Amino acid sequence: MDHFGYRQDRLYAEEVPLSAIAERVGTPCYVYSHATLERHYRVFDEAFGDWPHHICFAVKANGNLAVLQVLERLGAGFDIVSGGELARVLAAGGRASNVVFSGVGKSSDEIAKALTAGVRILSIESGEELERVNAVALSLGHKAPIGIRINPDVDPNTHPYIATGLRENKFGVPAADAPELYRKASAMAGIEVVGIGCHIGSQLTEIAPFCDAVERVLDVVDTLAQDDIRLSHLDLGGGVGIRYSDETPPDPKDYVQAILAILKRRNCDLAVTLEPGRAIAGNAGVLLSSVEYIKSGPEKDFVIVDAAMNDLLRPALYQAWHEVVRADRGPDRKMLTCDVVGPVCETGDFIARDRQLAVAPGDLVVVRSVGAYGFVMASNYNTRPRPAEVMVDGDQLYVVREREQTADLFSAETLLP
Ligand SMILES: *Cc1c(COP(=O)(O)O)cnc(C)c1O
Repeated sequence: MDHFGYRQDRLYAEEVPLSAIAERVGTPCYVYSHATLERHYRVFDEAFGDWPHHICFAVKANGNLAVLQVLERLGAGFDIVSGGELARVLAAGGRASNVVFSGVGKSSDEIAKALTAGVRILSIESGEELERVNAVALSLGHKAPIGIRINPDVDPNTHPYIATGLRENKFGVPAADAPELYRKASAMAGIEVVGIGCHIGSQLTEIAPFCDAVERVLDVVDTLAQDDIRLSHLDLGGGVGIRYSDETPPDPKDYVQAILAILKRRNCDLAVTLEPGRAIAGNAGVLLSSVEYIKSGPEKDFVIVDAAMNDLLRPALYQAWHEVVRADRGPDRKMLTCDVVGPVCETGDFIARDRQLAVAPGDLVVVRSVGAYGFVMASNYNTRPRPAEVMVDGDQLYVVREREQTADLFSAETLLP
């Protein structure tokens, strides 16, 4: 459920017509809905009832400070994958004690910053990383709270680029190797073993792979208990899918219920952390873009818009499908069978392919479901300034990131003497 909808013939974000935002801020421009972010966060949070839990928004899905601030105010924690994301969370008013630090390639500097800030848990992805975290912690005179990320080897049935819990993926530690690693960790002076976790992929549309993963992680928990290694935190990562077109992703409530049922059946009382990114932010954002030209080709027509792959990479990177609609319906336009493409000099530069769209030059189009993995993947390819970002809250509109200026794009560069 989101708070974007037509009233008569105009598409609104909450109480604000999208065409009014485009007029004021220009295009291309990302627009986020405060009420939608809030609603999606609350569904996860409330599904847990009394069960001890943390909902840690995956910052890599959308790191805008205002988005993080909205979630922080609701009580969210954050899942980060870099020192940069930690800095963002702190700048947005988030507390390090609510942060979990994931990722396969943490540098010594990032580990030190995370420990100094006091993050709740570092997710360990290899024996080598464990050694490094121990060494950094000892050099700082800290004890690093850690959990080991298990690779449960389950197939999430999603795009191969966003499947992360298969044996052949770079993520996590095989379940069979985990007990040995936990024994090592328990003996390290700079390490405090507190948790265990997994994250099997993104845009999952079924509950079953999550359940398989939980069972496998709990098998490890049971093995550890025999060795008297007791944990307090179970982190199940993110991955709940959203509806882009006709997918039927699990309701977060059903997903949480399914997990809690497994925990109860197995007499497990660990606090649960979830790290949803897409499920909270995906349908809370749209991209506004103006039609520049209609170009008729021998095979099909091209609707050339002012947003491109540098603004929204998902179609080029994952062949992702995003709904594209006209912001204001009518006056009547001729229906086109077309590709919606940007100005970037790549054939992979498309927003949508093989669509039926009735638009003309000057019209405003809206690319939906881009609140996650949208702006965060934007680049300056072709020396294009990245778009503005706007947050709508009721009838209020806030520019939460100014459009970049061309001069900013090369201000850090120098000419030779
Ligand atoms: C990407 C990622 C997430 C968020 O995934 P979504 O599919 O956006 O929910 C959570 N945890 C980890 C470790 C991740 O890498």
